[in-house]
Amino acid sequence: MEILHVSAECYPVAKAGGLGDVVGALPKYQNSIGNNAKVVLPMYRTKFLADNEWVVDYKGHIYLGSQFLHYTIIKEATSKLGFDLYLVDIYSLLDREKIYGYSDDVERFTAFQMAVVDWINQWHYKPDVVHCHDYHSGLIPFMMKYCYQFQGLSHVPTVLTIHNAQYQGWMGWDKSHYLPAWDPYKWGMLDWKNTINPLASAIKCADRVTTVSWSYLEELRIEANGLENLFEYEKGKCLGILNGIDNDVWDPATDPLLAKNFSSKNTKEGKLANKRVLCKEFNLDIDKPLIVFIGRLVGEKAADILPSAIRSCFHDYGNDVNFLILGSGEPHVEWELGTMVHEFAGRYNAVIGYNEKLSHQMYAGADFLLMPSRVEPCGLNQMYAMRYGTVPMVRSTGGLQDTVVDMGDKGGYGLRFNHASVWDINYSVGRAIEVYANKVKLSQMRRQMMKIDNSWDKSAAEYIQVYRWLKWTQ
Ligand code: ADP
Repeated sequence: MEILHVSAECYPVAKAGGLGDVVGALPKYQNSIGNNAKVVLPMYRTKFLADNEWVVDYKGHIYLGSQFLHYTIIKEATSKLGFDLYLVDIYSLLDREKIYGYSDDVERFTAFQMAVVDWINQWHYKPDVVHCHDYHSGLIPFMMKYCYQFQGLSHVPTVLTIHNAQYQGWMGWDKSHYLPAWDPYKWGMLDWKNTINPLASAIKCADRVTTVSWSYLEELRIEANGLENLFEYEKGKCLGILNGIDNDVWDPATDPLLAKNFSSKNTKEGKLANKRVLCKEFNLDIDKPLIVFIGRLVGEKAADILPSAIRSCFHDYGNDVNFLILGSGEPHVEWELGTMVHEFAGRYNAVIGYNEKLSHQMYAGADFLLMPSRVEPCGLNQMYAMRYGTVPMVRSTGGLQDTVVDMGDKGGYGLRFNHASVWDINYSVGRAIEVYANKVKLSQMRRQMMKIDNSWDKSAAEYIQVYRWLKWTQ
């Protein structure tokens, strides 16, 4: 199969969260089973761009409304990532340092998508399927089907994968003239509640819609930031395919970002050596269980309750536990987590920011990883943690529910709780302290979780089945 993934992120080129990890790994696994998957994303001004060689693949132009824009498609010269990587350069619009967060993000991502479709339309290579990821590529299925200029692509199947339905890319109807001329009878395929909603449009127009876990798909019919009815209506073409992890990048035996590599044969010593590094650097007590949180400090991750939950744990368990936080997000949460460092020195620390290396070191050196998420479409952190022998403490939601079995259940190896609340976190921390004290149980849980294969092998093949079915039924 010839597959083109369109995304805003792809590790190690540009990553803000799980989307980057998925798009950096899935195509590689798809290629390893005999396909030809390629990836295209915007050309941000990243380190990867500066450090690698590029060749110009195509030059074209688009009109964003009345604005004439040149675009250039460049290709990474060596395919070193295990797939062909293309970047779309649109001068002054895409070549910025950050991926998201600009006031003209609507214009940036609309122009990106138009350039991608224009490029495919002219290209000698025609994909068997165009696989869109999240709302940043959500207008593509509509454009391929209903823009007159791209009629040659209307037969090419499209798949949408929803990594996070909270963000939908809403734009007012006053921006509808950005898109190339389209069949006006089809305006309903762009609209949701009187705005242009790229995610809703992709759910309507794509031939197949996948979510990154089975439970998340169920949850979206109940709560989907306004799209619940649409998920119910379109349920016939939706299915859940669980994310996997890239076992080459996330391997404690070879991970170059760790202070000490280890495997299931020397887990105890290996983890202790990594924990020592963390405890020294962040002034924590190596003899006490180390619970870490890594992620965006936003409501979805229940980061707002972390300060109260951590305070309540220190109140109830005194010095019996350490916490280390790595994340960035809402300013008031950053501020509160940051100021607590002085209050609880010696048993608590926080790094506010994004730090890939430190995150690897934390997965390796921690005893427990806390994920109290209110919404978790799949969650990768818990799978990384398990591969590094770190016990996941997760709220039973979305993909967390699909990937973590509580230690109290048959074959269980993790700690699960039901509510994103201070009390549930506090109770779970109590359980973690007990597990930590029982070294035999802890090492048995570590052994068990490190044996689990969460790699992309199975899910990559599931996507191929989806594409094949679409190709045959076109
Ligand atoms: P999200 O909803 O943010 O996409 P996921 O669990 O799917 O959540 O993926 C999160 C990914 O981002 C993981 O690889 C995690 O290690 C990484 N990550 C999140 N925040 C940070 C941070 N502050 N520093 C380093 N890595 C981070």
